[in-house]
Amino acid sequence: MMTGNEQNVAARVDELGAEMLDFLRHLVRIPTVNPPGENYLDCAYFIGRKLESFGYDVDYVAPDGMPENTARNPRLNVIGRMEGRERKPTLHFNGHLDVVPPGVGWTVDPFAGLIRDGRIYGRGVTDQKAGIAASIFAVEAIRRAGVELHGSVEQSATVDEESGGLAGVWYLSQNGYFNSDRIDYVMITEPLNYDRICLGHRGVYWFEVDIFGRIAHGSMPFLGVNAVDIMARLINRIEQEVKPMLAQRCTVMPVEPPGARYATINVNSIAGGQQIDQMQTPCVADLCRAIFDRRFLIEESFDNVKSEVVDLLEQLHDEDPVWSYELKDLLVVHPTMTDPMTELVQQTASAIEHSIGRRPPLIASPGTYDQKHFARIAGIEQCIAYGPGLLDMAHQPDEYCRIDHLIQACKTMALTTMRLLQA
Ligand SMILES: [Zn+2]
Repeated sequence: MMTGNEQNVAARVDELGAEMLDFLRHLVRIPTVNPPGENYLDCAYFIGRKLESFGYDVDYVAPDGMPENTARNPRLNVIGRMEGRERKPTLHFNGHLDVVPPGVGWTVDPFAGLIRDGRIYGRGVTDQKAGIAASIFAVEAIRRAGVELHGSVEQSATVDEESGGLAGVWYLSQNGYFNSDRIDYVMITEPLNYDRICLGHRGVYWFEVDIFGRIAHGSMPFLGVNAVDIMARLINRIEQEVKPMLAQRCTVMPVEPPGARYATINVNSIAGGQQIDQMQTPCVADLCRAIFDRRFLIEESFDNVKSEVVDLLEQLHDEDPVWSYELKDLLVVHPTMTDPMTELVQQTASAIEHSIGRRPPLIASPGTYDQKHFARIAGIEQCIAYGPGLLDMAHQPDEYCRIDHLIQACKTMALTTMRLLQA
């Protein structure tokens, strides 16, 4: 059941629909393509001006000292805060303002914000500018309905989520802009479908293996050690032994799709010996490098995950110690999951039930997003992802968001805000 105040606010969301869509259309028309990170300043200021006009105190934070923050492609994050009657609790909405490149296969202009058949089209509309629009207008609906909040609301639009979020949420968490003293609840407005709640994500270990053999004349390969052959042995061992072992490990996390509930490993790239397209040279390959993507579960510890890789390399090496290797860690993301019994999850679930009419499934994401930084660096325990876009639409050609989903997600966010902050 919704209270009278809540029904009032839901009606305001409907009234604000056209204004929200217009704002979203403008956002889509700022092509914040990452890489390399274009037009971030325009986008951050556009969002910041809207927040200011809606009564927020607005702060712009450039990630000083981060290597990706260049004169050519400057980074800028925007944070708005609106105090309630009390400072606490604080609900923080976060969305990333960068979008992936459009790629090929579009039948509409990816940066026009075309509206057709109840949908708005554009690169990044689902992932995840619709989420930014929904959270800003959810809180505005409360304000326009004249409902006062007990706690405070923050909204942030941050950079570089698509490339790891270091100049965005990581920087802001690391430097105290996001911290657990001030912020109690975080809703990241990523697209996991407008009727589901995402509790967290699995872990990632990207590593590079360099195999060093010995060069020799290609006509007498028995005089050298071919590094590509050694890498082939490693990959064969992964196929024969590691993959079946990982396929036995299933997480309790409700990852969607269910195929992603198992631990996995994937070869991302491989390069060895003479470069393709270069001049021919009759040599035994003395170097082979490969990059692997190991997705690990909340039940696996990173130390174990890494030592399994080291053990495999050592075993192979002991069998035939005429070569050497180097293992390099490229990226480590630890798994994270918010407890489903927490206030944030429970209130969002009841808000979805009341705005959409059904109990939402609680899921976890197969890939990672900025929750890792909020949870592990800022130390904020109650963090979820919820937004209007459809997960399957992310990064696709002809990406779109349904306008009815935008409105429904906006209502869910408004109800959640009122219930968490005791309107
Ligand atoms: Zn995203």
